Amino acid sequence: MTSPAFPARKDADQEQFLEVLPREEALARFEAVLFPRAVPAEERAPADALGLALAEDVTAPIDVPPFDRSNVDGFAVRAADIARASEAQPVRLALTGEIIACGVAPQLSVLAGTATSIATGGPVPRGADAIVMVEHTHPVDGDVIEIRRSASPGQFVSYAGSDIARGEILLRAGTVIGSREIGMLAACGIASVKVARKLRVAVMSTGDELIQPGEPLRPAAIYDANGAIVSAAVNENGGDAAFLGAFPDDEAALEAAMRAALANHDMLILSGGTSKGAGDVSHRIIGRLGEPGIVAHGVALKPGKPLCLAVCDGKPVVILPGFPTSAMFTFHDMIVPVLRRMAGLPPRMDAEVTARIPFRIASELGRTEFVMVSLVEGREGLAAYPTGKGSGAITSFTQADGFIRIEALADNMPAGSEVPVTLFTPHVRVPDLVIIGSNCTGLDLVLGELFRSGLSVRSLAVGSLGGLAAASRGECDLAPIHLFDPKTGSYNVPFLMEGMELVEGWRRMQGIVFRPDDERFEGLAAEDAIKAALDDPDCMMVNRNQGAGTRILIDRLLGSARPGGYWNQPRSHNAVAAAVAQKRADWGVTIQPVARAAGLGFIPLAGEHYDFALVSSRAGRPAVQAFLAALASSETHAALAQAGFARPAQSAP
Ligand code: AMP
Ligand code: MG
Repeated sequence: MTSPAFPARKDADQEQFLEVLPREEALARFEAVLFPRAVPAEERAPADALGLALAEDVTAPIDVPPFDRSNVDGFAVRAADIARASEAQPVRLALTGEIIACGVAPQLSVLAGTATSIATGGPVPRGADAIVMVEHTHPVDGDVIEIRRSASPGQFVSYAGSDIARGEILLRAGTVIGSREIGMLAACGIASVKVARKLRVAVMSTGDELIQPGEPLRPAAIYDANGAIVSAAVNENGGDAAFLGAFPDDEAALEAAMRAALANHDMLILSGGTSKGAGDVSHRIIGRLGEPGIVAHGVALKPGKPLCLAVCDGKPVVILPGFPTSAMFTFHDMIVPVLRRMAGLPPRMDAEVTARIPFRIASELGRTEFVMVSLVEGREGLAAYPTGKGSGAITSFTQADGFIRIEALADNMPAGSEVPVTLFTPHVRVPDLVIIGSNCTGLDLVLGELFRSGLSVRSLAVGSLGGLAAASRGECDLAPIHLFDPKTGSYNVPFLMEGMELVEGWRRMQGIVFRPDDERFEGLAAEDAIKAALDDPDCMMVNRNQGAGTRILIDRLLGSARPGGYWNQPRSHNAVAAAVAQKRADWGVTIQPVARAAGLGFIPLAGEHYDFALVSSRAGRPAVQAFLAALASSETHAALAQAGFARPAQSAP
């Protein structure tokens, strides 16, 4: 591959990505400019150095133990004197009269035929070469002791320096100091060590739309997630993050803030504003901050293509992509190795497990793709379910156990592939109860009780059909489904496969939602409401995605009509309510609890059955029993009713 001349262009007029580099090339360029370099170090007391890396080897200044030490309570003797001692033929030795407790330096020698009383940890006196345990002796009188066992030379003696010898390397540079290291240092009497000082990393968010948590959200604004994520991730990797806040996309103000941040920190990490959109200014500023400037802008990663790597007068300046998941992955993949190396820390060791991919995952050719996955235990071992909802989704992080990598040269990961999963935590947590299928807010009300009783539950939303497939592979205990069968006019039962049984869930009333002040719909029955909507050319609808149960209902209502907004097809009940509440649409179809929570008017259409396909072979598991009990409890019924869901017994026939 030919490398473009760098430092990169500094003229602000061109707005194209220079060249999208493979991740290895981008990382190599970044590291080539940054290393080798000295690790900034400082002296610290070991207790204040917890989690920091040693900047240099530590050698032992003394022998440990510092003297020949007794390991038992007993008598210091000469082994030759008692070579033939036994229970039948004990040997008598004269006591020297000295008693060596811990911390007492012996004054008298052990001569032939004599013994000295000694405690565990006491220094072995001159002349003695072995210790006999007190259990194998018998006092004759105050001056004589009877020995009833022989001893080989060296018995129960720890020689000086046998643990650590003076001058030996105790701990190597790069070792991260934990309680064990602190203990070793203390045992050697070391009160101060040279450690790599934490890297001072300035973190800035950029974007006119950003609001800090705790402040009220204004229209079209979003909360700044990256500031919190990046700061925490810096601290997790041995840095000392200073979050400087979110800055508007104002070139002059941002440049001043970036200069000030660089002056006081070892590294500067920004997020947002690195793509080519209007207002993306931070990358233009970098060229003015120091040499060599940008070394890579555009890396073949997914998510994370707009990543920008720069070095300004020896200090790294990074612009992470704006989407939080993209920011997170690029940070861990590209920035953490550099941050740790600069901080004198060893590379991160993330735990890995092997798991099977349940269905084909499409991937973009030419970009290294990271896909977050959630692990469940199936009949054939671990299965890794993708949890991502695109690079803009942040919630997928909490559902995910780790991620898989799809190499740049692959355009998909076939179903059934066995792949390594890099774990976010050191161990896989196999949940007590696994629920895979269609999601419903009512489910949270049932699960709440299980969480409170300490059970771990994994609930993955993959739709009704995906849930049935998972159940057929034995990957879940229960699959929530709401599938209408037009042939039989019934819900769910016709879709059960062998080895599954139906557990009745609840009914969700579907209906037309509108803003309560909209006179076009107020007080109308469903059919009249649809007619009113279709009669008014200004009336906008919001639809649902193909394949959703709600969509079947909408298509029946509309017939061949295609009113404005028909092609707006979000994938959830909540998105429909948000579109109407925020006036992007005037009506749509969603479930009653969602309409109620959004404060919308509601015209009932039909009750939908939300039930569970239970994998029969797993019905006896304690967590499944606990779920069934929670589902049947009167508390759950009350909570469901309160939220607008009806249990079958209570619903109208
Ligand atoms: P940008 O790279 O500035 O074009 O941002 C890409 C997307 O990420 C936009 O939707 C931004 O609103 C979003 N974004 C940027 N910065 C943040 C942040 N700090 N927290 C959450 N989202 C962000
Ligand atoms: Mg922006």
